Amino acid sequence: MDTKPVLVVHGGAWAIPDDMVEAHLNGVRNAAAAGWRVLERGGSALDAVEEAVVVMEDDETFDAGRGSFLNRDGRVQLDAFIMDGATLRGGGVGCVERIANPVRAARKILSDSPHVYFVAEGAERFAAEHGLPLCRNEDLIIPREVERLKEYQSHLEAHRADLFAPTISHDTVGAVALDREGNIAAATSTGGTLNKAPGRLGDSSLIGCGCYADNASAAASTTGWGEPIMKLVLAKWAADRVESGSMPEWVADEAMNYLKQRVQGHGGIILLDAQGRFGLAHNTPRMAWAIHTAQNRESGMERGKA
Ligand code: ASP
Repeated sequence: MDTKPVLVVHGGAWAIPDDMVEAHLNGVRNAAAAGWRVLERGGSALDAVEEAVVVMEDDETFDAGRGSFLNRDGRVQLDAFIMDGATLRGGGVGCVERIANPVRAARKILSDSPHVYFVAEGAERFAAEHGLPLCRNEDLIIPREVERLKEYQSHLEAHRADLFAPTISHDTVGAVALDREGNIAAATSTGGTLNKAPGRLGDSSLIGCGCYADNASAAASTTGWGEPIMKLVLAKWAADRVESGSMPEWVADEAMNYLKQRVQGHGGIILLDAQGRFGLAHNTPRMAWAIHTAQNRESGMERGKA
């Protein structure tokens, strides 16, 4: 089979301020370029989404890897998930504190373990046993985030009111890809939400919530406040609609409307099926995204706003 590859990435959905637009655009473009290099040389969708997400984990602009939001205790706790639409194999890590690229650990779980999910120290031990370097938590913390947490915690009451507002920063990263073999894959990686309680897990690494892939339906990655998204198992909800015959483009919009209407949620989604049809939508003012196809390279901040 020689399918035309497609890659779509996002770098979070929220009211990205003007002075941060360029950094977000550069970040998603670099990620899309890295994923595309894999697809172009005939690599798998799974490798492509992993490489795209690694680039954004390494980019301090985003809430993934180094530079992530800090939890209430001032520590970075990372979650990631990756899924192969051909086999339905998935790998996820939650609440890891010593892995700079959690999507790599998630990929090792997918490839080398009969399990789907590892959390905290067990996940770190698994990663180390499978050749991934462990770092210190301090290596993942940057001054910008120390300041951000300090500011947030000193105005806790004021912030509590707008906990679910679209203005709250959501810089989770994700990618969906279709390869030449006709297989799709998805990956999502996050530092979660600012000032989260230690041990809190968001939607991003939960199968079917922040990430899902099945060749028979679609590959999806979401971003936004995780609690509403996980209540709706939103990535799987969207994939199921594509399987029932709806266009990914419409389903992405529907998913954002559903999120807003059903649970007052805000966020964004990227969605891609095995025919290369894709959708992107967000109900926040902006979402950083990039698309690569054989014919086209695009990136932007606003698209299909619900
Ligand atoms: N969904 C992520 C979480 O709740 C946050 C984000 O998308 O930025 O952990």
